[in-house]
Amino acid sequence: MTFSTADIRQKFFDYFSQRGHQHVASSSLVPADDPTLLFTNAGMNQFKDVFLGAEKRSYTRAVSSQRCVRAGGKHNDLENVGYTARHHTFFEMLGNFSFGDYFKKEAIEFAWNFLTDELKLPKDKLLVTVYSEDDEAFDIWENHIGVPKDKIIRISTSDNFWSMGDTGPCGPCSEIFYDHGEHIWGGPPGTPEEDGDRFIEIWNLVFMQYNRQADGTMEPLPKPSIDTGMGLERISAILQHVHSNYEIDLFANLIKAAAQVVGAEDLSNKSLRVIADHIRSCSFLICDGVMPGNEGRGYVLRRIIRRAVRHGYQLGAKDIFFFKLVGALVVEMGQAYPELADQQPVIEKVLRVEEEQFSKTLARGMAMLQDTIANLDGKTIPGDVVFKLYDTYGFPTDLTNDIAREHDVEIDEEGFKKAMQQQRQRAQQASQFGADYNNTIKVEHETRFTGYEQVEGQATVLELIVN
Ligand code: ATP
Ligand code: MG
Ligand code: MG
Ligand code: MG
Repeated sequence: MTFSTADIRQKFFDYFSQRGHQHVASSSLVPADDPTLLFTNAGMNQFKDVFLGAEKRSYTRAVSSQRCVRAGGKHNDLENVGYTARHHTFFEMLGNFSFGDYFKKEAIEFAWNFLTDELKLPKDKLLVTVYSEDDEAFDIWENHIGVPKDKIIRISTSDNFWSMGDTGPCGPCSEIFYDHGEHIWGGPPGTPEEDGDRFIEIWNLVFMQYNRQADGTMEPLPKPSIDTGMGLERISAILQHVHSNYEIDLFANLIKAAAQVVGAEDLSNKSLRVIADHIRSCSFLICDGVMPGNEGRGYVLRRIIRRAVRHGYQLGAKDIFFFKLVGALVVEMGQAYPELADQQPVIEKVLRVEEEQFSKTLARGMAMLQDTIANLDGKTIPGDVVFKLYDTYGFPTDLTNDIAREHDVEIDEEGFKKAMQQQRQRAQQASQFGADYNNTIKVEHETRFTGYEQVEGQATVLELIVN
């Protein structure tokens, strides 16, 4: 028997509700009162203050399916979409939580029993990781659950030690992986081939047991807590006997719809997967109030829309098409997320306007870029070309990079930044002399969103901000 994605979500709720967990609805993709976070990227986000002890709830166990976007900030999977079987920009994270209630042993038991009793996953296909120093978790897996020693892998990196920030709650994690079989490239966690898609992580269990102080010391929390996250699309792939998330029921239908609107025939085309992924993130972001713009969250949304539109163009779309997929998405997800169905007309309108605007310059930009690539001397697209594409044709640098990667070439980021700088200086000088440059500067170069960069401290975020 195979389960639909909707069945699996429901089974998860039922399993944990029957075990005393309060069902809590997904929160918005725009985190409430948390300027340090670009988008909601995990089920625990909405419970942050409960874990910190700053907020009390009437329950100590919760279950949810949280809509998440990982397309910027600390977790950025945008560049993985179209390249791995397991990453989306938008996905649903199933989670069970304990706020000072049960701890390690019960959390491991719940997860294992859900997977092997309830969903009937074959035990021999599962392996688990623990933090290298977490002997307690190792012992529970080995002696209480009965997982063979050679299928419990100790990991010493931060992948298996979770923290909320530089200070505050933190603790070791234990991740559960599924082996999709020898015919797929990849190695178990902790090996050089771990990034392949043979062994796919399905569930992450976080054991919050310390409170890290400013001086680095770790005080045991008086009431340790549990935070878990399982990707709904990943577990659906396993239960539907497919390898890639993009082959599950929900995606198969979205991909079919995408193929129809752009007139493509090969349903396994990578660009169709990207479009199907992007319609989810873009629609849900707009549904949660994000509008395409030139900075911060709005700029991430604009970049994702433009990437999707470019992939459609690549497939030969003759007309604007992206907004036409909202209906198909509502069919797939409108029941679980009624707000999506309610907002359908707004989402379609926003996408349509954005697509119309970009399609005015897309073909000419593509022609210029293809010409440059065809005549490239070496492997790097010069910074002034990247800048012209950005400034004149509305190509965000990550879009140009996406195309470059398909041709196995790179973009000159430094040269691009220099060209940006020069443009800024010209604009400044011009304004000193009273000239009106407003017509030539199509995007706002300065941004007020420096928060993410400082918080996450990642180079990729800087790029997002400068643009
Ligand atoms: P990976 O190592 O595969 O990138 P992760 O360790 O970054 O995953 P977590 O932060 O532990 O993921 O998130 C909890 C769960 O959410 C994962 O075990 C996985 O099932 C799911 N998940 C994480 N990122 C994605 C994504 N981009 N698309 C779909 N599911 C995801
Ligand atoms: Mg990841
Ligand atoms: Mg991982
Ligand atoms: Mg993980």
